[in-house]
Amino acid sequence: MAGGSFEVYVAKENLKFNAAHFIAYPGFRERLHGHNYQVTVRLEGDLGPDGYVIDFGLVKQATKRVCDALDEYTLLPAQSDCLRISEQGDSVEAVYEDGSRFVFPRSDVMLLPIVHTSAEELARYVAGQVRAELLAVGARPWRRLEVSVAETRGQSATYSE
Ligand code: ZN
Repeated sequence: MAGGSFEVYVAKENLKFNAAHFIAYPGFRERLHGHNYQVTVRLEGDLGPDGYVIDFGLVKQATKRVCDALDEYTLLPAQSDCLRISEQGDSVEAVYEDGSRFVFPRSDVMLLPIVHTSAEELARYVAGQVRAELLAVGARPWRRLEVSVAETRGQSATYSE
């Protein structure tokens, strides 16, 4: 059938991570707080000979691995334009432009290659990680990958590529 398209959607209770973060940009910083982030994934692609766009199991496993890698960490944006982040021995220090200073054990922190730990930038980061996990297990090519990250129910950001 010409013109039709297929999409698979994975939204499972266990595709979540609990993490601490704070938004910071020049002139504004949130207090440190946490969310139970919930992740959903959509993949659009062609139907394979087996009747699948992609095996749901592969998508669930890939997304679960990405969630687990972020679970129970403090997320810091390594590319921040207003936080000075440095690693000193077993500690990570983050200093905001007004001198406010956080020190975390290195093992408790995930330094992410993003500018802000907003749901939007986290969605883009998670999409990249899910893409890498799917490619690593030889998943069939897809056309479009969309990842949503919800900070709370009914409040999410979506990135697609
Ligand atoms: Zn928050």
